[in-house]
Amino acid sequence: MTHYVLPAPVQPALQVEGSAAQFPVRRVICVGRNYAAHRREMGGDERDPPFFFMKPADALVPPGLPVVYPSLTANLHHEIELVAALGADGADVPVDEALSLVWGYAAGVDLTRRDLQDAAKAKGQPWEAGKAFDASAPIGLIRPVDRSGHPQGAIRLSVNGQVRQEARLSDMIWNVAEVIAEASRLWRLEAGDLIFTGTPEGVGPLVVGDQVEGMIEDVGTVSFRVG
Ligand code: MN
Repeated sequence: MTHYVLPAPVQPALQVEGSAAQFPVRRVICVGRNYAAHRREMGGDERDPPFFFMKPADALVPPGLPVVYPSLTANLHHEIELVAALGADGADVPVDEALSLVWGYAAGVDLTRRDLQDAAKAKGQPWEAGKAFDASAPIGLIRPVDRSGHPQGAIRLSVNGQVRQEARLSDMIWNVAEVIAEASRLWRLEAGDLIFTGTPEGVGPLVVGDQVEGMIEDVGTVSFRVG
């Protein structure tokens, strides 16, 4: 048994619907601008290829915990996203084999310090301060793919009961299979990796006290309070 000079960090893990066993998380890979209307609202060109960034696995916030309003921002944005949880490894995976890597799906929120992200974009700097901060990824239960199928239905986010984001997963520019295939060209994907697949239009600010409720048809919910 390995002995460490410090207590080893806890393995980040997510709850699985209908199971006492947890899903161990390795990495959190996120896709930028994967719905045409959101790409337009962020000032992008619809023909741009997708791009990726990452969050640390310990940025995930499981159901039932509040999200503390993060430091050094005055413009915290919500982005509801379909999350694919991978249960198999693969590099250079063909599109027509990519869905075989999916173990299950969850609803997640890519929380964003939009002011810090905008400042980074303006200076050509990396996005970690805007995207990869503590508690930046609230997420719901993972639903195994044998129950969820590969979802194509509605995706919606409400704040204090008011709908802010509403679209269909079929509106994605790059579908889940294409996203996995593309990511697998950049990294060897491994079991335990999560992929946040991008958000539809309607992103906007959250303030302390907001109650956020997200729903993805055939997948489940994500909800949290901003504390
Ligand atoms: Mn996002």
